[in-house]
Amino acid sequence: MNRSKLSQHTKIGDTLHTPFTGYLGNRMKETSWSRDKLPQFIWIALIFSTFDRNYAFKVLSDIIKELKKQQICIAELSEVLSLKEQEQEKWFDIIDMFIPKEVLSPLSIVFSSREYPYFFNRYCMPELDLELKITKLMQAIEKNLSFHSHESTDICFIVIWFYISAKKMLFSRECTMSTRALTEYYKHSHDEEVMSDYRPIIRATMQGLSVFMDGSFSHKFWDQLAQITSCKPMIIDYIHEDITMNKEFLTDSMKTLEFIGANVKDKYQSAKYTISMGIVTYIIKLYAEILDHELQNTISSRILFRTIVEAYINLKYLLYKEPSTPDVFEKFQSYGLGKYKLVMAKLREGKYQKDPDAHINSKLLEVYVNEVKDEEFTPINLGYFDKDNIRKKFELVGEMELYEIYYDYDTNYVHAFWGAIRESAMLLCDNPSHLYHNVPDYTMEQMLSDIDHDCIMVLKKVFSTISSYIELPDFFVNKYDMRC
Ligand SMILES: [Zn+2]
Repeated sequence: MNRSKLSQHTKIGDTLHTPFTGYLGNRMKETSWSRDKLPQFIWIALIFSTFDRNYAFKVLSDIIKELKKQQICIAELSEVLSLKEQEQEKWFDIIDMFIPKEVLSPLSIVFSSREYPYFFNRYCMPELDLELKITKLMQAIEKNLSFHSHESTDICFIVIWFYISAKKMLFSRECTMSTRALTEYYKHSHDEEVMSDYRPIIRATMQGLSVFMDGSFSHKFWDQLAQITSCKPMIIDYIHEDITMNKEFLTDSMKTLEFIGANVKDKYQSAKYTISMGIVTYIIKLYAEILDHELQNTISSRILFRTIVEAYINLKYLLYKEPSTPDVFEKFQSYGLGKYKLVMAKLREGKYQKDPDAHINSKLLEVYVNEVKDEEFTPINLGYFDKDNIRKKFELVGEMELYEIYYDYDTNYVHAFWGAIRESAMLLCDNPSHLYHNVPDYTMEQMLSDIDHDCIMVLKKVFSTISSYIELPDFFVNKYDMRC
């Protein structure tokens, strides 16, 4: 299937619409073959699943002819099962003329005696093994879950013929491609080339027929089946790296920090040094937490990594702005303390009742806020630092790939958007009768791919950035090729 490129999307408001959603908008009604329609025709699926394809076509053609004679040419099970009992009897008598009863018997596990007494009594066949009935039904379902499968297209072909025979649909006898598809389809095997022309026509015709089909019968079918069979959650198994090997870069980074601390005493009083090395240390501490607590394959690592990336961009942005704004480091410090002051002031002014066990210590906040200068000289900036939003900062320092791929991806984790929840906290149920739904990872087993490679990639950028200002030790420069 060809996927629309981003350039083919249309921006309406703050949404990028695909060619489909942009054109149809609210008029678009999404339906699903498996969820909304398949249960209506599951009896046809059971016939195809039991017999050879050619024989199944023959038998179904005979059934259609007989049903037509009786003027009960109905394909949808919901309609059949809501007929008066006498009419149902006529319909099922015809089915039983051509099909052994055990073929439809698996449906008695879904259609209960309470709701469908006639069907249940006729097909429950208690002498048949229940597990075997379930297996047969599962096989028929699994083959037909995809609307684009050959098997589903065979079902569609039969349903269309039900409609034509019941005169609910007319087709021209002129020799068009559609006519050929509707009359020749069953004569060919799916390996034949002509079928690649016929199959899409059959499916498109079926879609036209089933637009207004009510999904409630089908939904009930799946609900019923879900109660009978259990979930089979699948976990994606990621290979865990040897973390002792990976810790080498962390150890070298910490040695480098110590080297810097011992060799740049002349810079100790400079705000530029304090702030840039503060950011670097914050980044290394986050990285150390990931490794020390073995978080490489966790949700937390994504959240920590995004903060690492943001801290790196702040550092690079400050160095970028310094020539035009010499006091940019002091401004960054003041901006951050203003953010602390806002929280501290709200607590101090009693806006909310203090919780002594909360992780926020208002007294310490007050100390930090007043540490560099008195808070009376610290404004509170409610906007972005230096007015540039985060995207703009990535752009100015030439790190758009980091923004558009890594930062944007991990933002899903920070904000707990569904993509991240699906990937990390939900599993795919491999039971076809549950329509491959998602189940919560109750046992906390799903891990994520290792983030260490990407952490090292960003940390190298961090060291490369500060090397324009602070000399790095030779061993680190040579070992990691830190030329800038
Ligand atoms: Zn399930």
